[in-house]
Amino acid sequence: MSLSKLSHLKQKLASLADYNHYSRVHPLKSFPTNCFVKRDDELGFGISGSKLRKYLSLIPFLENCKIQEAVLIGGAYSNNVLGLTQLLIERSIKPTLFLLGNGTSKKIGNYLLTSLFVPSSSIHWVARENWSQVEILATKYITQKDTIIIPEGALISEALPGAITLPLDVIRNEENLGSSFNHIFIEAGSGLTAIATILTFAWLEKETCVHVLLLADEQATFISKLKIFQKHFEQLVSQNLAWKHIEMRFQLHVPTTAKSFGSVNKTILHEIKHIAKTEGFLTDPIYSAKLFMEARKIIKKQRLKGNSLIVHSGGSLTLMGFQSQLTDF
Ligand SMILES: *Cc1c(COP(=O)(O)O)cnc(C)c1O
Repeated sequence: MSLSKLSHLKQKLASLADYNHYSRVHPLKSFPTNCFVKRDDELGFGISGSKLRKYLSLIPFLENCKIQEAVLIGGAYSNNVLGLTQLLIERSIKPTLFLLGNGTSKKIGNYLLTSLFVPSSSIHWVARENWSQVEILATKYITQKDTIIIPEGALISEALPGAITLPLDVIRNEENLGSSFNHIFIEAGSGLTAIATILTFAWLEKETCVHVLLLADEQATFISKLKIFQKHFEQLVSQNLAWKHIEMRFQLHVPTTAKSFGSVNKTILHEIKHIAKTEGFLTDPIYSAKLFMEARKIIKKQRLKGNSLIVHSGGSLTLMGFQSQLTDF
């Protein structure tokens, strides 16, 4: 790994917000040996860890541009909508939501919590058949210069520097541990967290394989996003990054159960209970429980050698919306 590039990159991230973004790693007990978890879930209660990282650079950007209102696009139960809304209110930026649905979403879980922060007059519902047009609709809504649109999952170049703190914090964990991770497992929604990790490791020439569990996108979509953010990354570090260094550093995986985004079944609910009892932490059914389950399978199937790290991105508040499913069996 290139230490001079590492310090160069750290300098580029000097102007992040001051939210805590250091999380610990510890061994997992019910997994094959040399398997660790990174506890990004401990970075925030109301804001999931991977989102908090994106906001480290996104919020300072909004403040520098003197943004007064932010239009957030997402699902009614989105972790990004729920998380970013909180920091916007804190910074006196008005959140306006463009949410998928027709206003009849059950007021449970994340949507219930979001509705505590945002009055219903600031929520615009966009039906599923019009969802592909949501950015156009949001653009039409905007009349002021000081309003900005934040796309689904905060997949925006201004969130990239913050997301890069994840791979950098993994390197800090390795230094503390005195050994390195050969494999790292991350789930992808918008993909930005995984993309930031792949690009950072590629640029640093760090020999860690990034295993990405694609929960929302097809492989081709993920690759095209990766290539777009390759350009943003190159701009950030003011250097080129060859694709051949990128492509050798990741593997894409798809879920083997509850395959479509947001779907949950008994296997996932069992996994949540299993991890709680054996490991002592909560996982959400949309992201983390799927990641832990698939990572266990991949490690066994590929007979992975060396140290593996599974990133727990947080999102446990989502469990609030699954109380009846979790009591029923
Ligand atoms: C948003 C979120 C993800 C997806 O992160 P992306 O950067 O959008 O891929 C994964 N896990 C949790 C818990 C999240 O809240």
